[in-house]
Amino acid sequence: MSLETLSTAPRLTRPAIGSATLSVIVALYLVVVANRTFWTKAVDYLGVPSFALVLLGIGLFALFSAICVAVSVKYLTKPLFILLIMSAAAASRFMDHFGTIIDVDMIRNAAETTGSEAGHLLTAGFVMHMALFGVLPSVLIALVRIRHRPFFQKFKWNLAVVLSFLAVFVSVSLANVRTFAATTREHRDLVATLNPVLPIVSAVRYVMASEGEKNIVVQPLGTDAHVVAPTVSGKPRVTVIVAGETARAENFSLGGYARDTNPELARQDIRYFTDTSSCGTATAVSLPCMFSIFTRRGYTHEKGLETENLVDVLSHASIRTEWWDNNTGSKAVAKRIAYTSFSDINDPRFCKDHECIDAVHLDRLGAWLDAVKGDSVLVIHQIGSHGPAYFQRYPDAFRKFTPDCRTAELGNCSRDEIVNAYDNTILYTDHVLSTVIDMLKAREDRMAGSMIYMSDHGESLGEHGLYLHGAPYFIAPSQQTHVPFVLWLGGQAKAGIDAACLAHKTGEPQSHDNLFHTVLGMLNVATKVYDPALDVLASCRGGAAAS
Ligand SMILES: [Zn+2]
Repeated sequence: MSLETLSTAPRLTRPAIGSATLSVIVALYLVVVANRTFWTKAVDYLGVPSFALVLLGIGLFALFSAICVAVSVKYLTKPLFILLIMSAAAASRFMDHFGTIIDVDMIRNAAETTGSEAGHLLTAGFVMHMALFGVLPSVLIALVRIRHRPFFQKFKWNLAVVLSFLAVFVSVSLANVRTFAATTREHRDLVATLNPVLPIVSAVRYVMASEGEKNIVVQPLGTDAHVVAPTVSGKPRVTVIVAGETARAENFSLGGYARDTNPELARQDIRYFTDTSSCGTATAVSLPCMFSIFTRRGYTHEKGLETENLVDVLSHASIRTEWWDNNTGSKAVAKRIAYTSFSDINDPRFCKDHECIDAVHLDRLGAWLDAVKGDSVLVIHQIGSHGPAYFQRYPDAFRKFTPDCRTAELGNCSRDEIVNAYDNTILYTDHVLSTVIDMLKAREDRMAGSMIYMSDHGESLGEHGLYLHGAPYFIAPSQQTHVPFVLWLGGQAKAGIDAACLAHKTGEPQSHDNLFHTVLGMLNVATKVYDPALDVLASCRGGAAAS
């Protein structure tokens, strides 16, 4: 082929578009296509047909257009628009399908998750959604040729366009300011679903917070802690703390659920607290919070990181404290104590691709208990009911409620199938907890055992159109915050407790705030950081506190 034929060959001309025009098209796409959840809520709250809804649409379109035009700088336009569209597509998938709100805690959850956990969310449905709503428009943007005016001319022109759009935004906002103010105050979830504004703001806030956390120096806590008195019999006190995962109280038959999901615990001499609330709605918040000295009101992620926690105070009291993890890690709670991750070990008897069923804890517990010499605390961090792959949390023997959803793609299952699979996970946790109690009971001649179980947060199974968990606390439904709390005290531990008083306590409101102080009380640890008012057992202890 000669040079001549090359030069005369027809050339593909890419369509060209002005930068401001493209900005307006991208803004329109984001407002209309990526905000299904937002508009559903807006229609709900503002009513349809309504003047306020039309104004809201015009106002948002003007605001998004102003932002897109403002960032449509030469060389940056394409990467920024593609980033906006891809993040909006990913966020809308979770918002529209699971009712997820992407705040800082949700970004932290995503960032701290394990590969196998994330894998369950990257389903064929997710890939399809991304291809259609993220990749396709991005490819179109990549293909077009953007016309930019000469620098100063562009600056003047864009400034005029941005100011005009902002003027429209301000006028429509002012025109209906009372309705908008009242609606956003009353329905804070409306603003929280504006896509991709909140996801991007949350991601930026997460990155800024993570940078600050790199220099955190952990402050010691309860260094004066010591065990007040040995048990009357001289046997070591052994407490197993089970940190549950995604178990909601609503599905515990111990708390009145119609299905028998707790057949084994029902036969144990346990106490079930019927009205217990979690600190957060996601592991990354709840777990460090429940082990911290802070109450839900006082807790922040930073405070949790910069202060030692329950397991450290126990260590200061010379109690052997160990953490077994069958989840996504201890969220820095177990940073300073003995720690084992079962997903890292990947024992093929219980694990597949670094995800294990909770039998992995039971397999080792007997040997661990047999080796106990002095006062000890073991934290068992379960995988529990972690979704959306509920069916992978229980062995076949616990597939009692059928048909059960056998995929992580919840959209392919009926609501009944999802609930069946979830209930099987609760049934299996019932078995795990009851087996822990049996193992402690079998060794009562050698140790004064007890077990305390609290789930980290609950789960939505389609109520109010929500799935999974992680809703901002202020709008979280009870399904995500009402958690099961089970206490088993062995013969010795029970001896000092007034049974009627404890029975009364089980009906009173309790929360994650109580874990820190209750465990210190159970181990008879004295320290100035112990607050008996938050120890659920304190007021039920008679004179015989040193059981
Ligand atoms: Zn969790």
